[in-house]
Amino acid sequence: MNKILTLVLATILLSCNNQSNNVDVLNIYSKRHYEVDKNLIEKFEAENNIKVNVVKASSDELIERIKTEGENCPADLLITVDAGKLYKAANENLLQKININEISTNLKDELIDPNGFWIPMTYRARIIAYNPLTVNPDELSTYEDLTNIRWRNRILVRTSTNAYNQALLSSLLAHHGEEYALEWSNKLVSNFAREPKGNDRDQVRAIVSNVGDIAIVNSYYIGLLQSSSDSMDRKVGESVNVFFPNQSENDRGAHVNISGIGLLRNAPNRDNAFKFMKFITSEYAQEYYTNNSFEYPVNKKVKPSETIKKWGEFKIDTLDLNELGIKRKQAVEIFEDSKWN
Ligand code: FE
Repeated sequence: MNKILTLVLATILLSCNNQSNNVDVLNIYSKRHYEVDKNLIEKFEAENNIKVNVVKASSDELIERIKTEGENCPADLLITVDAGKLYKAANENLLQKININEISTNLKDELIDPNGFWIPMTYRARIIAYNPLTVNPDELSTYEDLTNIRWRNRILVRTSTNAYNQALLSSLLAHHGEEYALEWSNKLVSNFAREPKGNDRDQVRAIVSNVGDIAIVNSYYIGLLQSSSDSMDRKVGESVNVFFPNQSENDRGAHVNISGIGLLRNAPNRDNAFKFMKFITSEYAQEYYTNNSFEYPVNKKVKPSETIKKWGEFKIDTLDLNELGIKRKQAVEIFEDSKWN
């Protein structure tokens, strides 16, 4: 008995040793900081025998780091929560083109980079959460209508330094031009219920505390609140309804953004990077995301989770998501001009 045990142990030790000698690696620079990513990365590591190293920081910090490291940059992939930042990385010549068909043939067409520099990983809508006790949903219609005097002192939204708001204003700039976007931002500021502060979840909490009646937030935060381990947050999540703006027949649809991945120009572990991109867009990973982070799946074969299905189907704005990067600088200037802090 003891002999067998010793032999088994020796075999295990040897195989561990072998693995560590030629262990494959993948290096990711990521803006995402969610538990779901960690779990999926662990599964990927176990299935592929690849050690994944993740460096987390803001997208701008990661882009700066990639530039500084230059040809010695150890990273293979850049993950952001905003197509605008991937556009920025591509525009600074930090990314290499990806043949999307090598990754998956099932990705939603509207979310594919026409320039081929990034792939979508999940997507989310910037929605209006509202208090059903004080807001009749018939009064809600479009992002444009949020400037209506009807919403005076009733709108909650975070600061303009946030990339989600910058992306939303970039989309309005792309659709309506500078003059309109400035007027929209000015009028929206005069409808704020309070000086912008806190994150998206805090805006929803402020609805329930009756600070305001409607909040501009990313869709998955409603799912995260509703399924939170904190009973107060669950109550907050269940006290608000979700409205998708710009849904009328002739309108363009709700503003969406992606979490996405770019392959770095000098990626040292290119094959492993491709394996990872295939894995993360697979039906397995996409189902895991929609069920746990309440984001929308980018794989056409995967249905949104039960939680987010309850909010209903919606039309998405099919604007080229690179516009969210192209218009970014202008959007930031408009925010400054309109005193959206
Ligand atoms: Fe977020």
